[in-house]
Amino acid sequence: MIIIFGSKTMYKNLGTVGSYYCERCHNTSEWQFMQHRTWFTLFFIPVFPISGKHEYLQCPICSQAYKVPEGK
Ligand SMILES: [Zn+2]
Repeated sequence: MIIIFGSKTMYKNLGTVGSYYCERCHNTSEWQFMQHRTWFTLFFIPVFPISGKHEYLQCPICSQAYKVPEGK
C-alpha cells in the first residue's frame, strides 16, 4: 500500500475591505481581504493545518500584498 501525503496551501478570499490607494501601482481599487493556511494532506485531503493563519490585504490590480497588523 502506498501512502500519499504532502501539503497544500489553501487560499480564501474573505471579500473586499474597501477602496484603498496602492503605493505600488498607484491605483485606487477595491482591495481584497485574503487568508492562507498550509495544511497537511493525506491522499490529497487536508487533514490538519501545519501553519498559522496568514491574513493580508491584496491589491487586485498588481497583486501586492500588505500584512494585516497583529492584535486587531
Ligand atoms: Zn496595486
